[in-house]
Amino acid sequence: MADMGLVVVGAAGRMGQALIRAIDAIDGAQLAAAVERPGADELGRDAGELAGLGRLNVPITDDAEAAFSRASGVLDFTAPAVSVGFAEMAANAGIVHVIGTTGCTPEQDREIAMSAERGTIVKSGNMSLGVNLLGVLVEQAARALEAADWDIEVLEMHHRHKVDAPSGTAYLLGEAAARGRGIDLRSESVRVRDGQTGPRPRGTVGFATLRGGSVVGEHSVIIAGEGESIELTHRALDRSIFARGAVKAALWANGRPPGLYSMLDVLGLT
Ligand code: NAD
Repeated sequence: MADMGLVVVGAAGRMGQALIRAIDAIDGAQLAAAVERPGADELGRDAGELAGLGRLNVPITDDAEAAFSRASGVLDFTAPAVSVGFAEMAANAGIVHVIGTTGCTPEQDREIAMSAERGTIVKSGNMSLGVNLLGVLVEQAARALEAADWDIEVLEMHHRHKVDAPSGTAYLLGEAAARGRGIDLRSESVRVRDGQTGPRPRGTVGFATLRGGSVVGEHSVIIAGEGESIELTHRALDRSIFARGAVKAALWANGRPPGLYSMLDVLGLT
């Protein structure tokens, strides 16, 4: 079978370059095109050279529509409004769309879900095997430990350039805890604490955010009871774990019917 041709959008970004390296390393995938925003400094440069691989003869372009027309899938780690637009464009082109972008508003998530009525989309706040497995463990722990006695806190740290908080992964883990508890995360969570907060509301999921340096991503779910606590932790040491997961997701989604899938579907963890 021919290799699956993939477009990387946001090709000059931190994740974009990791995606180009992952496509190069994984059998069954090949780089069909590399797209950046209009006006980006990297337009015209070779995508392989930019990603440290040597020349691939794939110049970075800002013509996403033309790029989509000669590919079977698109890998998208850009920004929320950008991913909403690409979801519609990928559905129109009839190609798989893998979205790793985080920080979407509920309205933007609704728009992406509408595109998934016509297109095949895999979207996840974290594409690594480790974090998705951690989510399964968190859901089990939250189900087993009673809300009256055990408080759940999600702690995350990322590099100084990250623009959204809490991270997409922190939400993914918070959602897993909420599923285990049978609660709605949006109404039963505490995102920020400052000043005279009063005692901790029972049964809520708390979030705490740290930013600094070059940390790729660290997440702990702390389940604290009377006299004991449990910590479930994942450390991302390298962006390649997300990039490999995204390429795997595209290969898995190729030929599947339209719908909005998650990494749990891809990894068989549902
Ligand atoms: P980054 O800023 O380094 O890269 C984003 C790139 O997108 C930039 O190069 C930017 O120029 C490009 N871009 C913006 N608008 C565009 C457009 N219209 N067309 C084409 N390209 C465009 O950011 P990053 O660290 O690579 O992260 C990107 C996103 O991925 C963030 O939302 C981040 O939280 C998320 N992320 C997700 C995972 C995951 O596993 N789901 C892992 C890491 C990062």
